[in-house]
Amino acid sequence: MPLDLSCALIQIQNVSKIFKTQAGDFTALKDINLCFGQGEYVSIIGKSGSGKSTLINMITGIDHPTIGEVRVAEHDVHHMNESQLAEWRGRNLGIVFQFFQLLPMLSILENTILPMDFCNQYPPAERESRARALLDLVGLGVEAEKLPAALSGGQQQLAAIARALANDPPLIVADEPTGNLDSRSAARILDLFDELVVQGKTIIIVTHDSSLAKRTARRVLISDGMLIDENIAHALPMLSHPQMLRLSHLAVARSFQPGATLAKHDNGKVGLFVVAQGHVEAVRHYRSGESELVERLGPGAYFSELELEQDERSTLSFRSAAEESVEALWVSHEAFYHFLGESHAAESALRQAAGERFGHVHRPAQPRKSFWWRR
Ligand code: ADP
Ligand code: MG
Repeated sequence: MPLDLSCALIQIQNVSKIFKTQAGDFTALKDINLCFGQGEYVSIIGKSGSGKSTLINMITGIDHPTIGEVRVAEHDVHHMNESQLAEWRGRNLGIVFQFFQLLPMLSILENTILPMDFCNQYPPAERESRARALLDLVGLGVEAEKLPAALSGGQQQLAAIARALANDPPLIVADEPTGNLDSRSAARILDLFDELVVQGKTIIIVTHDSSLAKRTARRVLISDGMLIDENIAHALPMLSHPQMLRLSHLAVARSFQPGATLAKHDNGKVGLFVVAQGHVEAVRHYRSGESELVERLGPGAYFSELELEQDERSTLSFRSAAEESVEALWVSHEAFYHFLGESHAAESALRQAAGERFGHVHRPAQPRKSFWWRR
C-alpha cells in the first residue's frame, strides 16, 4: 500500500487495552485504528469513562496497549525502554493535564525551564530567556517569578502550556485541559491552541464538552472504548453516541463508479448511505417528466430510505457524480430497519430530519398510513 502522508505523524493500529481488575478483565479500548497527520487539530470526545484518557496515554507512552501498535513520527512508542521513552517524550511531546501538575515549590519560570534542563535542550545560558519568552506568549510574563499557588486556575493552565512548549515539541497532547476552568479561562486556552496550530503544531485535545470540540478541525468520538466512524458522526449528529457506534458496526464499505445509481424510489429498501469519498447527487423526478438536481452530498453527508418514501408529486434518486467514483458506508435495509426498531428516539430524529430534506418540505404527514405500510 502507498504511504498515506495524511497519516504520517501518529498511527494507532489494532489497539486494545484490557485492565485486570478484582472484578475480572475490563476492556477499556477495543480494536482502535486511528491516525493523525502533521499539523492536525483534533479533539477526542466521549462521555466520562469512555476511554479517552486511556487512548491518549497510548500515544504519550504513559500506558501500554495490551494488543496493537502505536507509532509516533516513526517511533514505536511501546518498544522503547523507560529512559528512551522519557527522553523521546521530553523532546517531542508537550503534555497538558486537567490539574496542571506544576511543581508547587518552583516558580512558573523555573517550572518552564525544567523540561529544557531535563532533556539538555538549548544552551544553559539561553534557557531562562526562552522560558520568559514562552511565558510572555501565554500572557504570563509579569507573573514569571510567582509560585503556582499564587495564580488562578486559568493562569496555572497557561503556565502548564508554556512548560509543555519548552522543548518546542511538534505534538501537544492535552487531557481535558479546560475541565477545571471557568469559561473565560477555557476560551483563553483554546485561543492559544488555535494560535499554536497556525504555527504548525499538531494538537490533540481530550474533552467531554462537545461545544469546545467544535473549535477543532477534526473530531474523533469514542463510546465504550470503541471508535465511532467519523463520517457517521458527522452525518448524524442528532443521534446519541451509542446509536452512532451501533451504526458504525452495522455499516459496510461500498464503491460506486462515476454516474452509477446508488438508490432510487422504486426500490424503497435501500437502507442508509453515508458518503465517505466523492460526491452523490440527489435528483428529484416530477410526475410531469422533468427532473431537477436538488443537492450534492459530499463526504460526511447521508441519505436513507426515509427520504425516499413516496410523495404525491415527485420521487427521488441518488447517483454518484459524473466526474469521480464514490466510496460510501452502507447500512442495509434489514439492518437499518432493525436499528430503527431498537430506538424510537433515533427513528423519530431521523424521520424528522428526512421530512425537511431534498426539497421535501411540503410532504404531508401521514402517520397512520405509514404505520400500516411498514407492517
Ligand atoms: P475517560 O478519560 O474517557 O473518562 P478513562 O480512559 O479514564 O475514561 O477510563 C476508561 C475506563 O477504563 C473506565 O471505565 C475506567 O474506570 C477504566 N480504567 C481506567 N484506568 C483503569 C485502571 N488502571 N484499572 C482499571 N480500570 C481502569
Ligand atoms: Mg479522562
